[in-house]
Amino acid sequence: MAKIKGTIVVDRERCKGCGVCVSVCPCDVLALSAEVNGKGYPVARMANPDACTGCASCAVICPDSVITVYRQKFE
Ligand code: SF4
Ligand code: SF4
Repeated sequence: MAKIKGTIVVDRERCKGCGVCVSVCPCDVLALSAEVNGKGYPVARMANPDACTGCASCAVICPDSVITVYRQKFE
């Protein structure tokens, strides 16, 4: 069966560090960074990238639509 691997890209300067994506990820991939962006907000990042399935729950829930999801299929 094909395996789907995902990855996400966060628009750092538009992230407001609300953490909603962190709480919604079913695979515990995300965390808020210790570093802040230009507006002083901690940015969501992939703390556990290997676990991402590309389900896109984070992108759907993000109130500012700053997450882009990419999926790759492995046979
Ligand atoms: S795409 Fe799914 S698994 Fe990957 S970080 Fe977002 S919510 Fe988590
Ligand atoms: S839900 Fe969006 S704005 Fe909130 S921390 Fe995640 S990426 Fe940033």
